[in-house]
Amino acid sequence: MTVASETVVEFSSRFARAFPELAVPWHAAEFPDARLLVLNEPLAVELGLDPTALRAGNGVGLLTGNRLPASAMPVAQAYAGHQFGGYSPVLGDGRALLLGEIATPDGRLRDLHLKGSGRTPFARGGDGLAAIGPMLREFLISEAMHALGVPTTRALAVTTTGVPVQRETVLPGAVLARVAASHLRVGTFQYAAAAGDDDLVRRLVAAALERHYPHLADADNPSLSLLEAVVHAQASLIARWVLVGFVHGVMNTDNMTISGETIDYGPCAFMEAFDPASVYSSIDLQGRYAFGRQSRIGEWNLARLAEALLPTIDADTDRAVELAQNALSRYADAFNAAWSEGMRVKLGIPADVDEAVTTALSTDLVSLLEIGRVDYTGFFRRLADAARGEAGAAHELFADPEPFNLWAQRWLALGPDAAAMDARNPVYIPRNHVVEEALDAATAGDLEPFARLLAVVRSPFVEREGCERFARPAPDSFGPYRTFCGT
Ligand code: AMP
Ligand code: MG
Repeated sequence: MTVASETVVEFSSRFARAFPELAVPWHAAEFPDARLLVLNEPLAVELGLDPTALRAGNGVGLLTGNRLPASAMPVAQAYAGHQFGGYSPVLGDGRALLLGEIATPDGRLRDLHLKGSGRTPFARGGDGLAAIGPMLREFLISEAMHALGVPTTRALAVTTTGVPVQRETVLPGAVLARVAASHLRVGTFQYAAAAGDDDLVRRLVAAALERHYPHLADADNPSLSLLEAVVHAQASLIARWVLVGFVHGVMNTDNMTISGETIDYGPCAFMEAFDPASVYSSIDLQGRYAFGRQSRIGEWNLARLAEALLPTIDADTDRAVELAQNALSRYADAFNAAWSEGMRVKLGIPADVDEAVTTALSTDLVSLLEIGRVDYTGFFRRLADAARGEAGAAHELFADPEPFNLWAQRWLALGPDAAAMDARNPVYIPRNHVVEEALDAATAGDLEPFARLLAVVRSPFVEREGCERFARPAPDSFGPYRTFCGT
């Protein structure tokens, strides 16, 4: 690593300084032939960075970790985690680095983090690298999620390294530069708790409150307040995933943030035909992280956070357990309320309609979509047409339209607002077959399909002529879709 002469950004290195127990000073592998592939200019501007400078030599050096300002203290972060229900005491950034925190012009603090930047002491058997396809995939899907209004980490850039990566075939290597509210995870707290260091857990709690929930910074019981806040943030986040048909695919506790942002776009996918059992990840053989289980898994993960916090919630274990259980018991209500409110908006139902009516209507609709295996995203746009008196397109989605007609009568009686529905139900999501097509082309050197798809999913609510194919589900010939972790 060399020190950049002209700095593109200054880092505060707050985490690295405050938590040496959780931060191994490390540096990126050398990538002399690195080349910037995609830059997220709107995000760069939000961060107060100059896109032109990021495109220049020092910028590319920053985005690969090869030329950092003197203020940077890159570290690999330590964390533990439950992976598919089994506890791994030491995971950590095996192929990633936290470069440091950036103070944005609007006064927020954002982590800048690299993925695919070489082996670290946490790499175990891994090569520390990443292939171009999965890094572009994270860029694309996180941008889509952001445009859909779902809290998420974001991608600042993908840079090709010039170093080939051995997977099933040899692929071009790439580094993703990721921006997050922080990289504090449930697994960070599990790691600290497993070390038996209550003081470390308390300092983490204080840092998490200061950064993500500043209104709770002076709480009487900081650990309990943090737990309550994360319960709420995750219930709301996972409800949003469900509302847009997103399957995260690897909801291990190391992939669950304290901030309430979506993180780790490995094997995720958007569901097309509605089916709670939808699973895409090639390794999720039991369907642990299936679409319809995400809410319960969220609660399970939060119980692991509660366990990590227990000794700092109350010295009396029974009392600590009681308080923690009380906090966790609010998850289901918070999730249901967020989902119901989201469905009310998707269905264009006026806000003064009784919540129980909306919930019953929503639950009944979900059963119909499930029985009919109806394309989830496409359905809501066609339903808006039904609110305008053109019900034909929605009917067509059901092999047996009669139950839907009965449902639609109940719904139409509430006076749904078609324009409001169009503003909140996407025309375009990253359809799996189109994503694969774009990533294959990019891997072969043609970025055009990726750029086109990115532009479409960044503006998901506005229907555009010539983009019809981006709105259609995959043809049957596309077959069962499989996604992969750690690629
Ligand atoms: P993930 O499935 O991306 O959440 O990763 C789980 C763990 O595996 C994390 O500790 C990663 O840092 C590590 N990991 C994944 N891929 C690699 C790789 N190619 N080299 C080293 N570590 C990796
Ligand atoms: Mg991860």
